[in-house]
This record gives sequence, structure tokens and C-alpha cells, in this order.
Amino acid sequence: MFQVNTKRFSSVVTISTVAALSAAPQASLAEEVNIYSYRQEFLLRPLLDAFTAKTDIDVNVVYASKSLLERIENEGRNTPADILLTSDIAPLFDAKERNLLARIDSAEISANVPAQYRDEDGTWVGLTARSRIIYTSKERVADGEISRYEDLTDPKWAERICTRSGKHSYNLSLIGSLIEHVGEAEAEAWLAGVKANLARKPQGNDRAQVKAIKEGQCDVALGNSYYFGAMLTNEKEPEQQEWADSVKLIFPNQADRGAHMNISGAGITANAPNPKAALALIEFLTSEEAQRIYAEVNYEFPVRPGVARSALINEYMGEFKADDINLTRVAANRGAAAKMVDRVGFDN
Ligand code: FE
Repeated sequence: MFQVNTKRFSSVVTISTVAALSAAPQASLAEEVNIYSYRQEFLLRPLLDAFTAKTDIDVNVVYASKSLLERIENEGRNTPADILLTSDIAPLFDAKERNLLARIDSAEISANVPAQYRDEDGTWVGLTARSRIIYTSKERVADGEISRYEDLTDPKWAERICTRSGKHSYNLSLIGSLIEHVGEAEAEAWLAGVKANLARKPQGNDRAQVKAIKEGQCDVALGNSYYFGAMLTNEKEPEQQEWADSVKLIFPNQADRGAHMNISGAGITANAPNPKAALALIEFLTSEEAQRIYAEVNYEFPVRPGVARSALINEYMGEFKADDINLTRVAANRGAAAKMVDRVGFDN
């Protein structure tokens, strides 16, 4: 604990201040853990407050929407960051590739989180799961008309599909999973087939696609599952409730491999000044208590088996078959997926 604080402040305090600090009672130095987070504050705050109440460990968070890996890299051995928290597998995979993550060694975490949502080399762990599902127009698409990602290439959907950029992380992971399941040639034919059916040039975020369905610009869209809950309960922008009300949710490939899954997750940095507290926090985030908070706040799926989903999720989504492929392998195909997006001119 003391060593940690010396390390954090050593670059900014003078020798005499260090001496003064050393003479001060160590009890005044509270235990702490520092997070660099791509997840937003409203999602994390209830979880972090519960952790501090339980352990007396203070949690400091730097929130950002980009460049956190570069920051950890540049700070090197002096980084204050103990934990990298992300809303997608991509930055965790990148951080591991750049040797920015330590191995997480915890029987508790291994017991709480299924292997498919943990790095095969132990450097990151999923904390919540989400599916990339198919949204369809209630009015213009009949039940059973579409049931697999593969169906999106059917010529009957010509000029009826909307999606955000093929280069977005969420789509790269979906394409990465197809590469893993059906091979690169078939995955590329699929991507070209989807491109051929697009109603418009890829644009906007996932919610914008549901809006486009509501407004009749397209009938079918790809989108992450939690956005449905976020739209349906949106009090600030009530028009989003109408977007959500215009669609049905299709969890694809239920008769075969299951719906594509992604995670939000965490890793402990290689130079973490507070590795013990960091591990304690990640263990807490996989606990039943934390998993339930996660499920309620953002309409995601708990990664921990047996934890209740939110009532809204149960009402609209129920149980579904999730693809159980390890996300390490999906993420490893992301580079190939990005090249594929360029080759088929998906975003043009
Ligand atoms: Fe998202």
C-alpha cells in the first residue's frame, strides 16, 4: 500500500516532501485502485460505490472514449492505471497484444465467468455479455422470415437492410465470428451479400438503424441487444421508445451455433501499482451482487450463470442460445475482418 503511493507520486514530489511523507502515519494512506475506463460513469458508479462500501478501497476513474491504451503505453512503468475497463472485446485484445496486461490469476473469477468470456491466456475477463442481434420491422417482416445471420444475403432483402459501418468494432467482431465458424471465403461472400442488400450506405450508430426501421428506410438491421432496453426506457428522448416499439428482436442461429456474443470486460495492467486491490475489484464485479447491478443498469446479460436478468430483458428477450465460441478466437480474426470490409467495399 505504501509502496504504491510512493510510486505514484515519486515523479512529482521533491526529496524533502518524500521524507515528510515517510514520517507521516501510514494509516492515513487509504487503499485505492485506479481505473481507465471506456465504460460510462452512469454504468460504473453504482458498482464502484458498492465495492467501496464493502472493502473501504477507494476507486478513482479516468473516463475516456478513446486513446486509453496509448496513454497506458506512454506512461509505461509510471502508469497510475490498475485496471482497463472496456465496452467491447477489441481494446482488451489490443491491450494484450501490446503487452499492457498482466495475467489474472483467480480461482474465484474462473469459477464465476464461463471460459468463453475469458482470455485463453488469462489476461482479460468479460463482465457483461451482449448479443449482436437482428432487429426487424414489426409491420413489414413476418415471424420466421429471418432466423440466421446467413439469411441476410437472401435477395429478398435487397435494399432493405441497415447497419452502422462495417469497420465498427461490433461488426468486426461479428465478421470475426463468421470467419471462425464458416471460414474466410464464405465469410467474405456473406459480407458481400449483405452489402448487396443494404438500403443505404452504412452510417450512424446502432440506435440510428432502429430509427431508420421506424421511419421506413429499411426493414432489417443489425444492432446490439442492450440498445433495445435503453431505447424502450428512454425518458429523455421519448421518440426512442417509438423506435423500439416498431421492431421485433431476432436472436439469430438458434437452431445451430447460437447468437453472436460480445462482452464488456476488464484487464489488470502489467504495471499496475495496486494489483491486489485491482484483483479484488474485478472479483467483486463478477460477484452475484455486482452482476445483478450490471444487469439492471444497462440491460446486458450477466456473464455469471444463474444471475437473474432484468425484468425488461426477460419480458422481451427471454432465454436464447448464445454462441459459446471463445472470444479470444473471434477477436483474433478482427484484422482479417477489417481487410474484408475494405475488399468488398462495405462502407462505400
Ligand atoms: Fe454500445
